Amino acid sequence: MIVLKTHSELEQMKKACRISAEALNVAEEWMRPGVTTKEIDHAIHNYIVKCGAKPSFLGLYGFPASACISVNDVVIHGIPSGYALKEGDIVSVDVGASIDGFHGDNAYTFPVGKIPEDVAQLLRVTEESLYKGIEAAVVGNRIGDISYAVQSHVTPYGYGIVRQFVGHGVGRQLHEDPEVPNFGRPGRGPRLAEGMTIAIEPMITLEGDDVTIDADKWTTRTKSGKAAAHFEHTIAITRDGPVILTRR
Ligand code: MG
Repeated sequence: MIVLKTHSELEQMKKACRISAEALNVAEEWMRPGVTTKEIDHAIHNYIVKCGAKPSFLGLYGFPASACISVNDVVIHGIPSGYALKEGDIVSVDVGASIDGFHGDNAYTFPVGKIPEDVAQLLRVTEESLYKGIEAAVVGNRIGDISYAVQSHVTPYGYGIVRQFVGHGVGRQLHEDPEVPNFGRPGRGPRLAEGMTIAIEPMITLEGDDVTIDADKWTTRTKSGKAAAHFEHTIAITRDGPVILTRR
């Protein structure tokens, strides 16, 4: 069931989304060689708690940290650890916060120092595809129009699209209906209506759609071993067009 939000609920939800976005700013400050992903998670955790909010991911389905921190070939759900970042790594940070009864959710892939040109292009194109998806999130369109906008932006580059995981509605629950795939056909799926709040989150790889999940049951890697990027915003669909609630 898709839960539509009233104008005042949207106003309430902005706070959780703002804190989620600021948590990515905190993460960015730590992106340098030698820093461990656990240190980044701690900084994020402390920031969210200082804001009076709760880290949405902590304990969700048993996840053991406040942020998913995924390095290089890890697409999503990386568990913060003692791994120390190296020059040339890419680091996807996915984080949500909840306050006043609502959640925000967003992700960004950061480069650590100088990264290879092909990986830099992957990051750029994946972020662009997120904005293409957002542009399609207008009243009267369907979910498939968002999916198609993302897909058609990345496929000319020969990139893979992770199909096993998708975007989602977000609101009083971190994960609500509808699913928002990063692939699909225009004109298909639920119709977009005023008051829908969704997380659009392309997960794009340098090569191949397939992923594998580590024995820890979380860490999700590209089967090809190649790099993956993940960018996400929580947006609201309004009469005046899409509004990015997690804009940094
Ligand atoms: Mg999400």
